[in-house]
Amino acid sequence: MASRQGLDSQIVIIGSGISGIAAAQKLVKYGFHNVRILEATVRSGGRIKTGKFGNNIIEIGANWIHGPSEENPVFCLAREYGLLEPEALNPENQAVDIGGHPPWVTNWFSSSGKKLKAEDMNPAVDLFAELLHEAGEFASKGVEPHSSMGDFIRTEARLRAEKQWQAEGARTRAQWMCLISNQLKLECSINGSHTMDEVSLGAFGLYKTLPGLDCTFTQGYEGLVKNLMAELPGGLVTYRRPVSCVRWNNTEGADRPVSVEVEDGERVTADHVIVTVPLGYLKRHHATLFSPPLPLHKLLSVQRMGFGTNNKIFVEFDSPWWDVDCEVICLLWEDEEDLVDQVADVKRSWIRKLFGFTVLTPTERYGHVLCGWIAGHESEYMETLPEQEVMHAVTQLIRTFTGNPIITPRRMLRSQWFQDPWTCGSYTYPGRSCSSQDLANLMEPLPSKGASQFPPLQVLFAGEATHHCYYSTVHGALLSGWREADRLISHYSSTGPPEPLHSKL
Ligand SMILES: Cc1cc2nc3c(=O)[nH]c(=O)nc-3n(C[C@H](O)[C@H](O)[C@H](O)COP(=O)(O)OP(=O)(O)OC[C@H]3O[C@@H](n4cnc5c(N)ncnc54)[C@H](O)[C@@H]3O)c2cc1C
Repeated sequence: MASRQGLDSQIVIIGSGISGIAAAQKLVKYGFHNVRILEATVRSGGRIKTGKFGNNIIEIGANWIHGPSEENPVFCLAREYGLLEPEALNPENQAVDIGGHPPWVTNWFSSSGKKLKAEDMNPAVDLFAELLHEAGEFASKGVEPHSSMGDFIRTEARLRAEKQWQAEGARTRAQWMCLISNQLKLECSINGSHTMDEVSLGAFGLYKTLPGLDCTFTQGYEGLVKNLMAELPGGLVTYRRPVSCVRWNNTEGADRPVSVEVEDGERVTADHVIVTVPLGYLKRHHATLFSPPLPLHKLLSVQRMGFGTNNKIFVEFDSPWWDVDCEVICLLWEDEEDLVDQVADVKRSWIRKLFGFTVLTPTERYGHVLCGWIAGHESEYMETLPEQEVMHAVTQLIRTFTGNPIITPRRMLRSQWFQDPWTCGSYTYPGRSCSSQDLANLMEPLPSKGASQFPPLQVLFAGEATHHCYYSTVHGALLSGWREADRLISHYSSTGPPEPLHSKL
């Protein structure tokens, strides 16, 4: 049990996303009664954001529970709160191990306006899956034979295609290479990277998947946030409170070691601050957000870890142009044999980066709604365009790929995560030259171990980017919040032996 003095300690959490809420929930449950969340915006949830599209709800941010099974706390909470369809609760659903890639029924369309036969695409689909699987193994082997994920996939795909597809005609081989380009773009969306050339091969396999067939929230992901918030005392979160500076190691006459400055001039003193701002925000604002600045090893890790953009473009149609059982539509550009995952002329051709659409199901609930996915700088450029221009580009794209010159979406809505000043992108990926040490550095509290002249655990770090194997997910973010709450709980419960210092660069 924590000491009385511990439970009285003043704890400020910066950010009311799922990690901040989770940290507060655990601390309050344990008996800490001076916990406050300062949130920059007018709402809780951060990158969990449910919106309206016509009469339907849609997810502007997080979409699925990845790996909904017993080990996934988001799944367990959603089940407890009654937020899931009976199908998601089915033990068979929880047992399926998809390795992060759901076995979706795919409709393939080519840029010459033809629908391609799915079975004809299998050799290329299988080759790509094989390469992803192999890439995931380098993390545990501790070797990195190529400079990036992109380099590995491109080099190996060419070599293996040469060997394995010799007997095929030139057209088929070319089409399959175009499919690899498409899948590279899809991977950019999954990783939230501009190109797979920016993703570390050695660290790609640090990300771990959980068993379970990805599922969604019937009434929206924000249901999770609302239920968790209901467990917190009223008034614990203060909105419209963008924190501009965290002053730590305060020694001069201050009653507490940390002082948090809010943009409007308010100052809040604290014994502990849990920072949950997204990595994108940290990359942009670390220099002004911390005084003294972040230690060098932590700063280098902030810079080495990747944080990119992945956006959604929802489009609704009067009637479907895809198969009844279709779950994802992939678009193959017939001039992309060269394994490209980025566009040369972003302003003119940004739409080429959109790898395809997922189909919102069930149709009875959603009507005929697709969600387009676009990553990278092309996605960031898309955010700057007027809605009509995006609508026009998507309409032309669909007309080109279906060969139907009159298809017109009824309405459209896109996300703009890069322009969100409190997020500055979508989620974290392991950038080139990253290692597990970078994730360890990101979650390390300040002052760093060894600086014993200052009070410990002044600034703690949570948020998806700080989870060692579930970064980029809601469950990773939630677990990171609980982890930092536990750190404080155990700090006040016992004082363990000091840990040895390691080189962190
Ligand atoms: C398009 C998209 C799709 C996704 N799909 C999935 C998915 O299907 N499944 C999945 O598991 N995950 C998905 N994710 C990732 C998931 O949404 C995040 O990993 C998770 O929500 C992050 O939670 P967090 O608490 O770490 O950060 P956030 O939710 O970003 O919370 C941080 C909070 O800090 C606030 N803040 C920032 N700066 C300041 C400041 N200076 N002062 C005060 N407050 C500040 C922000 O306003 C925000 O509320 C997706 C994300 C995106 C963008």
